[in-house]
Amino acid sequence: MEMLLRRGFLWQSFEIYRGMAGFFDYAPLGNNLRRKIENIWREFFVIDERVAEIDTPLIGIEEVFIASGHATSFVDTAIECQNCHRVYRADHYIKEKLNLEVESSIDAIKEVLEVYDLKCECGGKFGEPFPMNLMFSTKIGAGKGKNAYLRPETAQGIFIAFKRLSNYFREKLPFGVAQIGRAFRNEISPRQGVIRLREFNQAELEFFVHPAEKTHPNFREVASDVLTLVDKFDKTHRITLEEAVKKGIIANEVLAYFIGKTRRFLLAIGIKDEKLRFRQHKDDEKAHYATDCWDAEALTSYGWIEIVGIADRTDYDLSRHAKFSGEDLSIFVPYPKPISVKKKRAIPKMNALGPAFKSKAKKIAEALEKVEVSGEEVEVEVDGEKIRLTRDFFEIKEVEEEIAGERVVPHVIEPSFGLDRITFTVLEHSFDKDVVEGEERKVLRLKRRLAPVEVAVLPLLSREPFTTRAMEIVGMLKKAGFYTEYDDSGSIGRRYRRYDEIGTPFCITIDHQTFEDGTVTIRDRDTTGQVRVKISDLTWILRELLMSEKNIEGFGEKFR
Ligand code: AMP
Repeated sequence: MEMLLRRGFLWQSFEIYRGMAGFFDYAPLGNNLRRKIENIWREFFVIDERVAEIDTPLIGIEEVFIASGHATSFVDTAIECQNCHRVYRADHYIKEKLNLEVESSIDAIKEVLEVYDLKCECGGKFGEPFPMNLMFSTKIGAGKGKNAYLRPETAQGIFIAFKRLSNYFREKLPFGVAQIGRAFRNEISPRQGVIRLREFNQAELEFFVHPAEKTHPNFREVASDVLTLVDKFDKTHRITLEEAVKKGIIANEVLAYFIGKTRRFLLAIGIKDEKLRFRQHKDDEKAHYATDCWDAEALTSYGWIEIVGIADRTDYDLSRHAKFSGEDLSIFVPYPKPISVKKKRAIPKMNALGPAFKSKAKKIAEALEKVEVSGEEVEVEVDGEKIRLTRDFFEIKEVEEEIAGERVVPHVIEPSFGLDRITFTVLEHSFDKDVVEGEERKVLRLKRRLAPVEVAVLPLLSREPFTTRAMEIVGMLKKAGFYTEYDDSGSIGRRYRRYDEIGTPFCITIDHQTFEDGTVTIRDRDTTGQVRVKISDLTWILRELLMSEKNIEGFGEKFR
């Protein structure tokens, strides 16, 4: 954290007003790193899938969160010290002080406080535990206004646009919808730096499938990947995804597919496999909407932290929004071939209906023709009136009818990524120390593509003609689209160290020989090795090097 603050990755928000827990600014380097991580996420979860990305408002009207259940269920239990008035999130405080996992319900917390006689850090007694809804509320418009909330997840914006989205995908399952953006949770006393924020960044994918077909067309691609899974009974498995599905450890193939894809994405951005595991939620831990849920957890200086949640949300959200909005959020799924079914239909007997029902007889007959008969009597509704009809009024005829398909409410599998925690984990897992020329060196071994500064251009000496030539090269590299910095302050060794520390993969040095033969050196952050290349080749060589993890030596040999 010291390095991240000093070098310009993350800064405390509202710093000049003494800051506020749960908020961080993305400083120049951190901002660029997170954006790059987002772009790789897009490659994995949008471009490579049948997925479209949308962007919906950060503010949601109250109706949305009443339907989604957040207005009532998105709560944590808080405890307040009666002496110093500090407020804690109860389950976290209990875990910290007693190392006990406890359900976050008022009753469970009350019991633990009593049984263990748990006190505040100041020695004070806690008052009654109380529920706290984690959504920030606000009003839209003037006067009394309309109640609204800052979204606690990006997902709801997707569910409420489902009709439009399923149209966009021509009502053909499976399809997915992604959203990257801010989410807000009024966390109770966040104390873990960037891990628990009150405003944070999510990348969410809602992947809609037929409830009876929880498969993914690309499952084969990841089926033999071996992962560390910790199941809900705390048993650890080193197992392929295929086996995990077969043994019923993971509930279905779509869930397994996205667990596999999540792992591949996390490895691609530099998270270490040996510091990564997937942990299944216990039955009492799951969110109000989920049936099976797995967290990707990474080992960091804060211990194992959840960086991605992958949940089977079933049809919970769509069904709730259908119910609360009155809109039909099902989609029509045709059968491969229409099927024919036998049905019993009523044939009205006009000579009986006429005398009995007079002017209503015609309408009753029309209603009768539409109903399917199961017993000896049927009920029809005419002008709001329910009328029971015995067999005196109709005959029964068996008919064959063709059915083309059915309406279903899709289920949704949701991988939900916390980009701030992921960015922080990437930084921690990339941070390394080694010894160069007898001196300890701090180096950020970021994947080259992720480096916030991709190339540093360094004149060997901070005077003419080195500086002008270096500035020309900076201009050329910026035009070519590289994040480039110019630096002429301090010894060349000091400058190399500075760029090693922020993860810049390549330093270009302009030296005496540059003016003899038009060449510069490229120095590799990881090996500290150098090669000499022509300035005219610099752009394409850097492009190749940044897109791969290729060794610089090869380029030097050919173009010396
Ligand atoms: P959830 O909807 O709770 O499963 O959250 C999805 C992801 O968002 C989690 O895996 C975390 O990485 C991230 N996340 C949740 N709450 C926070 C928070 N308060 N601060 C930062 N990231 C969070």
